[in-house]
Amino acid sequence: MGCTSSRNILEPDHESQQHAFRSKVFKKPRPCNLCHLPIQSEGSSCRVCKYVCHKSCEEKVREQFLSLF
Ligand SMILES: [Zn+2]
Ligand SMILES: [Zn+2]
Repeated sequence: MGCTSSRNILEPDHESQQHAFRSKVFKKPRPCNLCHLPIQSEGSSCRVCKYVCHKSCEEKVREQFLSLF
């Protein structure tokens, strides 16, 4: 796995909104897109852009989003 083509799809419709987070149980640890620590079991995943983060990071992501404006 040498190819790290992480595509950032920024759809205009989605960009003007919050992430659409849903609870998701990860069978394998996935790195959090906010704090980069592994998400061990249950986390949040955006069903639009596949952004994943800890449940505890979800609020910070929202704050970060709001602080862009
Ligand atoms: Zn999103
Ligand atoms: Zn996190």
